[in-house]
Amino acid sequence: MTPELYLNPGQWLLKQSHPSNSPVILKSLADLNGRAEHASVCLTFDDGPDPAFSPRILDILAEHKARASFFVVGEFAEQHPQLVERMLQEGHTVGNHTFHHYHPWTVLPGTAREEVTRTSRSLQQIIGFAPRWFRPPHGRLRRAMLKQVAAEGMKTVLWTRSMIDWGPLGTDEGIAERMAEIRQGEVILMHDGERQHNKPGITARQLPALLERLQRRGIHTLTLDEAAG
Ligand SMILES: [Zn+2]
Repeated sequence: MTPELYLNPGQWLLKQSHPSNSPVILKSLADLNGRAEHASVCLTFDDGPDPAFSPRILDILAEHKARASFFVVGEFAEQHPQLVERMLQEGHTVGNHTFHHYHPWTVLPGTAREEVTRTSRSLQQIIGFAPRWFRPPHGRLRRAMLKQVAAEGMKTVLWTRSMIDWGPLGTDEGIAERMAEIRQGEVILMHDGERQHNKPGITARQLPALLERLQRRGIHTLTLDEAAG
């Protein structure tokens, strides 16, 4: 493996000013629009579209008049283009989460770039325009990928709080507890795709209570497009 620079989330100072061609990495609503106070959150769902869970989550969001952002995997988007269209039609934002969801650190630089471009091309064909937002698999940053993302005019969005809706911590109790800790101004990571160890069924089951709690607290859900203004 070439000694290419790898970056961990948080290694980059998020609020520093970036030269126009360098990667922009965002985590919170304040990063998105420069405002410190928000009675809002951005809910994000990764790894779909999933024929079983994306429709369920879309139904729940619609019932609660909530908006979210979906970071879709290119190969699944090509398999279920109607779900990507539905996300958009219902007012959500669709972002690029690479084509195969390879771990960014395990592939050659050319593949890392191709994972980005191929997904944007697919989404362009499905929804008629290229995505504005990118999230790397596992939140793992890699220079070759980020340069491609910047060259395509996208911004990289990580998150401030993960619901850890996968693996042994992805239980009803654990996810409900983490959902109760969500604060305004945060970008929240969840999953609508069942790949690997994800638990989108549990996320879907806990989502109505989260949306009701946010409503009671007067906290709006914004898409990334809305948050960025
Ligand atoms: Zn993912």
